[in-house]
Order: sequence, then C-alpha cells, then structure tokens
Amino acid sequence: MTARRDLYDPGGERYGIPTYPFRLAPDGLATRRQLRARGLRPGGQEIAAQLLWCSRRYQPKRRCGLRVAYLYRIDLAKPVRPMTQAKRAALAKANAARRTCPKCGHDGGYTLPTSLGMCVACADAPALAA
Ligand SMILES: [Zn+2]
Repeated sequence: MTARRDLYDPGGERYGIPTYPFRLAPDGLATRRQLRARGLRPGGQEIAAQLLWCSRRYQPKRRCGLRVAYLYRIDLAKPVRPMTQAKRAALAKANAARRTCPKCGHDGGYTLPTSLGMCVACADAPALAA
C-alpha cells in the first residue's frame, strides 16, 4: 500500500511536477472537468500539478490502484468560446460559397462537387447542347 505521504510532493521532486494526494490540492487549481463546469478551458497552459490517489476500484492484485488527474491553474484558464454571431455568419457564408455555382450563379442547395467545379446542371449542359 502506498502511504499517503508518498503522494505528497508539492515541489515535484519525486514526480517531476507538483503532486498532491486526493483532496489536498491547493486552491486555484482545477481538473479539466472542474474548469469545464465553470465555463473555462485550460487554454493551452501546461499542466500545473497532478493529483494522485489510490483507488479501491482499480486494484490489480490487491495493490494500490494509483490514479492520476491533471490540474490546471484557474487564473490561467480561458473562457470556453461560444459560437459567436460573426463566426456563425462567416461559416454560413463559406458554406453558401461552396454551394454557389460559379457558372450560372445559382445556389444549388448542395455543396458543389469539386470534381465538376460547377453545379450538376451546368456540368450536364454542354452534353445537352451538343
Ligand atoms: Zn450552374
């Protein structure tokens, strides 16, 4: 059984990054899931610390099932970006452009096949005219 104090390594000397046992992590740190619950995301920051704990559910051969959770700094976290109106409009415009035939200028209502580079009607037109 791993002693609880073995999991306490705030200086990261044993594990390389600051390590705390379950429930003893300092304030200001949160797991990815906890950040998400506050409407935050890690935002590209490094993992600040890790939580280690022995799980009774994961005990191969009756040994301590060591579990890990990574912690991020809440003050460096960024808000989860919602889909803004401008972003939505830009996407709609891009999609409309992909549906609009450069030859006849009509919105075909579907994404034009890149193999044709025009709507199916225009692609078929020369064959009909011939
Ligand atoms: Zn067309």
